Amino acid sequence: MRTRSFDHKKGILYLVATPIGNLSDFSFRAVETLKLVDKIYAEDTRNSIVLLKHYNIETKLESYHEFNQDEKTLSIVKEVEDGMNIALISDAGLPVISDPGYKVVSEARKRGLPISTIPGASAGISALIASGLAPMPYTFYGFLDSKKTKRVSELNELKYIPHTIIFYEAPHRIKDTLEDMLEVFGNRNICLARELTKTFEEYINGTIEDVLKIEGLKGEMVLIVEGYKESNSMDGNPFEKIDELIHLGYKPNEAIKEASKLFNMDRRALYKDYLEYKNRK
Ligand code: SAM
Repeated sequence: MRTRSFDHKKGILYLVATPIGNLSDFSFRAVETLKLVDKIYAEDTRNSIVLLKHYNIETKLESYHEFNQDEKTLSIVKEVEDGMNIALISDAGLPVISDPGYKVVSEARKRGLPISTIPGASAGISALIASGLAPMPYTFYGFLDSKKTKRVSELNELKYIPHTIIFYEAPHRIKDTLEDMLEVFGNRNICLARELTKTFEEYINGTIEDVLKIEGLKGEMVLIVEGYKESNSMDGNPFEKIDELIHLGYKPNEAIKEASKLFNMDRRALYKDYLEYKNRK
């Protein structure tokens, strides 16, 4: 199915990016569109009012969020079908990306309704380009699960992806998440990008262990994580190296410590994997 974005016989669903911190990161077209549409659906109307007031946008505002999206989806799509121009925004950045909107967009697409995107800031891709880690190929993951067991199993699924991976994380969970990453991925290079576009914007580059040493990380943050590389692999050579070192007279603990340094891996995780490897043999 092919759908033109500007079929003026029908309404148009506009997906409008909003700033991720700095209010000036708002395009002329975004402001103009939000002034002209019949209605704006926002994730949290109280947050959006601040932005809309700043730009003298007086369009009718209604809520569309995680908890009412099922019931609202059909009515929003019906409004577009009936000829209304509707804009969807979220609290920050691109709607739909780790934010509500996907259900409306997919329903509108199924019905062949015109959809137009008004691009702008998004935290993940903004952090990626400034991280200094390989920008392509990349995998955007967004938020890991808040529960440890689920989070560790998600990380295990991502373990062998050779792409740079983009994660969103909340400050109160960053330490737990980094500890889980260290255990599953090994001590990879990362960039923690904080408070993008705001006064205290900061990038912390280093290994997972380096970043874990920093106390009290605050603010909004994106984690850019180096992809899987042979040198931080959990299997193969490190185990042979440990056997070789033991053969040379190292105590097992020392051999594991040495191999963890050589392969840039977390010592405890390597110890666990080495025991499993030995049991399998
Ligand atoms: N839709 C947004 C986008 O396009 O980036 C993401 C919304 S998601 C609910 C919010 C998360 O995005 C935050 O927890 C944080 O991980 C990240 N984020 C948003 N603004 C940020 C900023 N200014 N600096 C760093 N991370 C930010």
